[in-house]
Amino acid sequence: MKTDNADDLSQLEQLDNTIILKVLKRRYEKDIIYTNCGDILIALNPCKELLIFGENEHNQYDWHNFSDIPAPHVFHTAARAFRRMRESQTDQVIIVTGESGAGKTESTKFMIKHFVHMCQSDNKELHEKIIKVNPLLEAFGNAKTHMNHNSSRFAKYLELSFSETWDLTGVIIRDYMLEKSRVVHRSTNEGNFHAFYSLLLGAPKETLKALSLDKPINSYRIMQSDPDSLIAEARYKEMYKEQNKVLQQIDTSPHVVDSLLAAVIHLTEIKFVESSTVAGASEILDLEPAVFVSELLSLKVEDLIEALISTKMTILGDEVRRNKGPLQAAEGRDALAKMLYERTFQWLVRQINADLHPNRRGFGQLLSTSILDIAGFEKLPVNSLEQLCINIVNERLQNFMNERLFQFEIQAYTDEGIDMMDVAFENNDVLISFLTKSKQGVLAILDEQSTLQHGSDMAFVSQLTDLYKDSSIYIPPVTNRPEFTVRHFAGKVTYNASGFLEKNRDLLNPELKDCMKSSQDEFISDLFTVKRGPTGTISATVHNYGKSIREQEAPALPAIASKRAKQLDDLRKSLAAFFKRKEQATTGVFGLQKITTNKTNKTIVSHFRSSLMQLLDKISRAEHFFVRCLKPNEDLRQRDFTDDVVTEQLKYNGISQMAKIRKMGFTYRRTHAEFVLRFSEAWPDTVPVQENQYKEAATDLLQSGNIPAELKNDFRLGKTKVFMKEPLVSWMEGVLYEV
Ligand code: ATP
Ligand code: MG
Repeated sequence: MKTDNADDLSQLEQLDNTIILKVLKRRYEKDIIYTNCGDILIALNPCKELLIFGENEHNQYDWHNFSDIPAPHVFHTAARAFRRMRESQTDQVIIVTGESGAGKTESTKFMIKHFVHMCQSDNKELHEKIIKVNPLLEAFGNAKTHMNHNSSRFAKYLELSFSETWDLTGVIIRDYMLEKSRVVHRSTNEGNFHAFYSLLLGAPKETLKALSLDKPINSYRIMQSDPDSLIAEARYKEMYKEQNKVLQQIDTSPHVVDSLLAAVIHLTEIKFVESSTVAGASEILDLEPAVFVSELLSLKVEDLIEALISTKMTILGDEVRRNKGPLQAAEGRDALAKMLYERTFQWLVRQINADLHPNRRGFGQLLSTSILDIAGFEKLPVNSLEQLCINIVNERLQNFMNERLFQFEIQAYTDEGIDMMDVAFENNDVLISFLTKSKQGVLAILDEQSTLQHGSDMAFVSQLTDLYKDSSIYIPPVTNRPEFTVRHFAGKVTYNASGFLEKNRDLLNPELKDCMKSSQDEFISDLFTVKRGPTGTISATVHNYGKSIREQEAPALPAIASKRAKQLDDLRKSLAAFFKRKEQATTGVFGLQKITTNKTNKTIVSHFRSSLMQLLDKISRAEHFFVRCLKPNEDLRQRDFTDDVVTEQLKYNGISQMAKIRKMGFTYRRTHAEFVLRFSEAWPDTVPVQENQYKEAATDLLQSGNIPAELKNDFRLGKTKVFMKEPLVSWMEGVLYEV
């Protein structure tokens, strides 16, 4: 592979955003998608197959065989991390970020393949499994979006463990921030999670019949917005088969998975209408889906319906039930559907971990190299709590990267024997503290407001404004809407705080959770009992659901379709009588306002803080590598490098930071000879006769060149180079111009 001096941006004499863009573009046109920036790998999405990920490259980038300096490659990053782990006996983390569609997940997969290659051992079975579980993860965690037909809707942290003999002994996957709202809501023409299509379009007819899912796919409410997926039936049949193969491999019953997905679909089919007898209460329009759900989840249908249409609360010290209107009932139903899906996903991750976990395999873990595949900085037309959370994570990751970039700069000075004491580099510590500190940080204030009875989005923003109006990183709202602007490292982002509090409080009513816990099926009840948290940490070895009673007995599919119309009719009658009794019991409590909020319910933000911050702390203790993925254009078209699109990403993913950091120090760095020859027109006396006298000449020029006093500190003389700050360069160029 050809190497030229632009392989590493940090080695360029001059560095600004225009130059970075030019270099990347020139390389991209030659199908060179990888460029180094110090330790950071810039990876452009080729948007086409390139033949650079084969056996040859695996061999070329082996960790102990760095022939010459190989051209930048994602295999090289993996090899360097592997090598550094072995040499420094420290855990390594490769942080992969970028916009949606930039190639994070593909890069992650390539690196895993390379790790597997680098530790060729007898443990072939495990190695194969590590690569094979991916389709299952993607089926449940990925979906089609405007930006990417296979977009990961969760952040993933993959920890590869190594034994004393440097064999790969296991993997633990931790998942974060699954976009569960996608189950019930998404933009037009975007898809639901692939797993739904794979079941509805890919499963055998008899399976669908047994699950009562034999209506056309687009007749289900949550499957309606993606017409494209209907044409891809063959693909989903393949996906269903492949997914089930993986499930069997990890000792998990495909039937259970199918039933859980079917429960989500039927649950979202339940419709509520205004009650004809009780004002403000709701009734279920068609009982059938509710019956299906209760069958699938082994619940009493009366309990399920009661939990859906009424809520428990404490009023004046007494626990009472209050009816929900149709809108509120529908919200609870969707919250439950989202949670059921999320729990299913997390359970599957635990199942995978149980199979791939190193301890299970009887090996002690010595060291690890992890890969983090996480969405980059986001600035959307409307930014909400999700964007705030992802940007906070990115702010922290940027902090790690800046440190790395500083180190490179510092190295460049140290190599030249220059004292670094007087070069000040800024970092984004102030921003991180503003966002995350436990007292009066943005997240802390939001949490505080969320637990207050009279807390509001506006009160949250007002409190921020009171505290930070004079700060340079916070801009108060200019309208009377609850919004605020943060000056992030990548630029200003205005957050629309409408709905922040509601999102932050866990919308799932406790009675819905209790209802799930009351399931006759231990597996379902456990699914809702396990504390929410990063899946990997609630170790699969503790909660091994794969061995639940239900699975050990390898159950037949619950034949819910066999409920006869007559049975439904009887049920309807008994339910009507049941609710009549309830209705009398709850009359008289409406309109009372003194509500005790449930403080034990964890907020989204506190969960985010504990799980993600824990991860970031873990990362901070490791050594870092960075892969910055860039897409060359918005639509992932081949051979199209759109300058604006790339420039924007360079800014958001901190590559421009490299140029910025340069600017804080001595931007000009040329050899003594280059320097002297460049300015010899203005200072002709300094040109030496002999090669080895350029250093003295440069010293003379800088000391006797009438440099104004205020610029006298703007240069350093290194062993082989002259370093100057921008103002002095301009002054010298000016002198040259006057000559
Ligand atoms: P998201 O944040 O939406 O998950 P992502 O950054 O993970 O996006 P990928 O799914 O990895 O993006 O990549 C998007 C698409 O780009 C892939 O489906 C593939 O078609 C193409 N692609 C990415 N990287 C490569 C590569 N190295 N070679 C060939 N195609 C690639
Ligand atoms: Mg992805």
